[in-house]
Amino acid sequence: MTCFLLVCILSANAFATTWFPKEFICPIDKEKNTFQVWASYGSYIYSWPSKYQWVFWPATESEAFYLCKKCHLTTYMWDYEKIPADKIPELKKVLADIKVSKEFKDYREVPITERLEIMEKVYAVLGRDDSWWELFYRTEGYHYGKDGQTDKALAARKRSLALVDKLQKDKTAKEPAKLLLYISGAMKHFMNDDDGAIVQFEKALKVKYEEEGVVGDEAKQAEDGLNERIRDYIEKIKSEKEKPRLFDKYDTDESD
Ligand SMILES: [Zn+2]
Repeated sequence: MTCFLLVCILSANAFATTWFPKEFICPIDKEKNTFQVWASYGSYIYSWPSKYQWVFWPATESEAFYLCKKCHLTTYMWDYEKIPADKIPELKKVLADIKVSKEFKDYREVPITERLEIMEKVYAVLGRDDSWWELFYRTEGYHYGKDGQTDKALAARKRSLALVDKLQKDKTAKEPAKLLLYISGAMKHFMNDDDGAIVQFEKALKVKYEEEGVVGDEAKQAEDGLNERIRDYIEKIKSEKEKPRLFDKYDTDESD
């Protein structure tokens, strides 16, 4: 019964994610901005091609990066209303020097990569740990890649990979070792190092999935699920026409 229901839900949704506009007040200058908020999505987002960079919707979408039209404060959508008051004076200083490339009515008109560059400065003030920055650079690599900015994509992926290396040595890191190997392999593949990528994936297949608080069936599902993804990745790398990086610039956009 459960399976049957799942099929119905998936076909009705037709893999669409939906958004609606909402007004937000900028925490810095009280400017009113209209940003997009998600209305619906499903677990299908985890099988979209961005999985080959372990970047998932909504971080793949323009909607997710909020930008104030007046002071240019830019953050992930989930952080916009959570700016600590004590960081505002320093943020004002950093934002004072920022210019955006065009006048805009809708924040989505400004390229995602440009918004990410502002975010890099904003989050340097807010302060984040290595795991956060690793994902940030990986996300930057994804969007530069999609934009056809190959050199910048490579630079961002190098920074991501350096942080993965660091996390792999950090005994206090929360990321499962198996997942870090997947990400390391993915970054190597996207940096044109297929042999290096396969070494990481082969290692990943041999490492048990271990995550704090994940036990029993859940752990087994995570283990099986990740192994399936790794085997698929190896197969795609070894193919001529299906290598994930070949779709870097031309990622068949999953969203409508
Ligand atoms: Zn503002």
